[in-house]
Amino acid sequence: MGKAVQLVNNFYYVTLWLCQDCMLHHANGECSGCHDGHDETPLNKTDHTSLTMGIPRDGHECGRQDGEDVDECDCETNTFSTSQCDGCGSYLHGERHGFTEFVKA
Ligand SMILES: [Zn+2]
Ligand SMILES: [Zn+2]
Ligand SMILES: [Zn+2]
Repeated sequence: MGKAVQLVNNFYYVTLWLCQDCMLHHANGECSGCHDGHDETPLNKTDHTSLTMGIPRDGHECGRQDGEDVDECDCETNTFSTSQCDGCGSYLHGERHGFTEFVKA
């Protein structure tokens, strides 16, 4: 795992792996349904306005071809990770969800 950076059409596509709390904050825009508080402020390390849930196709290890149903694979979720959350810096164990951040070159 780790950040894959790609330059396409003057944008950098950066793959980020976010913890459950960051994912919920991104989805809801506020604190709801999080675990007992956070040890770090969710999304503090990233600009969440340029984040999109999901990862680029070449980040998929399932061999999915164009046109196949995206929902069929689970490359975008790591059900148990001990690596640092790219969104808040937390080292809490748990799920990591793949996101793509678009940064203008
Ligand atoms: Zn929260
Ligand atoms: Zn996949
Ligand atoms: Zn996080």
